Amino acid sequence: MGKIIAIANQKGGVGKTTTTINLAASLAALEFRTLIIDADPQANATSGLGFNPKEVENSIYECMVDDIRPRDIIIETDFPNLDLLPSHIDLVGAEIEMINLPKREEKMKESLMDVKDMYDFIIIDCSPSLGLIVINSLTAADSVIVPVQCEYFALEGLGKLLNTIKIIQQRLNPALTIEGILLTMYDLRVRLSNQVVHEVTTHFKNMVFQTLIPRNIRLSESPSYGVPALAQDADSKGAISYLNLAREILVKNGKLGVDN
Ligand code: ADP
Ligand code: MG
Repeated sequence: MGKIIAIANQKGGVGKTTTTINLAASLAALEFRTLIIDADPQANATSGLGFNPKEVENSIYECMVDDIRPRDIIIETDFPNLDLLPSHIDLVGAEIEMINLPKREEKMKESLMDVKDMYDFIIIDCSPSLGLIVINSLTAADSVIVPVQCEYFALEGLGKLLNTIKIIQQRLNPALTIEGILLTMYDLRVRLSNQVVHEVTTHFKNMVFQTLIPRNIRLSESPSYGVPALAQDADSKGAISYLNLAREILVKNGKLGVDN
């Protein structure tokens, strides 16, 4: 059975989509079958992998409300071992339509049963909210990665997110764990960046990944080429940092020896 990891933070612009694409591509490059689920109506993961969201007919939304099977709408990317369940703008209406469904928080979990054994990892790119689709993502997930940008107000909203995770653990998904807090857009030369790293690691200790994601131009420009940074420039600091994150996660999950 594959492990489902949600990438969540209700703040926008903290690196959720960048982490989704590049972590998934790194796991795929290490030969783990990986599926990205774009669960954000902004569809940035879909376009960042070179697909036009306007041409997408079915998304995780149709899987949740119309009982369409994910395996029937998954797209293969040009990258070996990496597939995508794309998104489109109609996901916006999903929250409203889902309100009256029975077990409305468990729709994504039910629907992903269909593909769970086809992959080693399923990575869900969440939207910047704590709405019903994010609740569905956290209910479907085995673990969650919380990207935190090394910027002003880095910790703002983090308490609320961790509280939401706690409530989901109590009511909907007792098995949900925190895979880790990921520091993103780190800049060695900026004092504030170092302060944030210090503050977050002091506060959250071993919940924080050892891998730091640097601010790196390849990570910001590769989506415009429709590829992960690894495919554009495998030697870039950005691509290497996400490979290191993938290895850290694999070691933590007992899927890779420490020396690999
Ligand atoms: P979110 O999905 O949380 O809204 P994104 O991943 O889209 O955040 O990142 C927000 C912006 O910052 C995007 O323009 C993205 O290209 C850029 N970005 C994200 N991570 C990095 C990084 N490590 N280095 C440089 N730019 C980054
Ligand atoms: Mg995003």
